[in-house]
Amino acid sequence: MSEQTDTPCQCDEALAHLQEYIDCEMSEVDTVRLEEHISGCATCQAEVGLEQRLRALLRRSCMEEAPVHLRERVLSQITIISQRVVIERR
Ligand SMILES: [Zn+2]
Repeated sequence: MSEQTDTPCQCDEALAHLQEYIDCEMSEVDTVRLEEHISGCATCQAEVGLEQRLRALLRRSCMEEAPVHLRERVLSQITIISQRVVIERR
């Protein structure tokens, strides 16, 4: 483990920076590295999709002054949905 810049981005790193990536708060270099990894990684693609769906839901509910517990409810619903998807794929 030397040359950090030559190492391809790993899931751990991609997932750790997922929020920043979606918020476009990362540097261009990091964004490109993440995109390279995500474009070839189904796990991270699913995570990004999930997070973006959650944000879209939250944005919509924020317009109606969402209660604090709503985020948790939405999160657990998404977890249930994604678990169902996994089960159905088997
Ligand atoms: Zn990954």
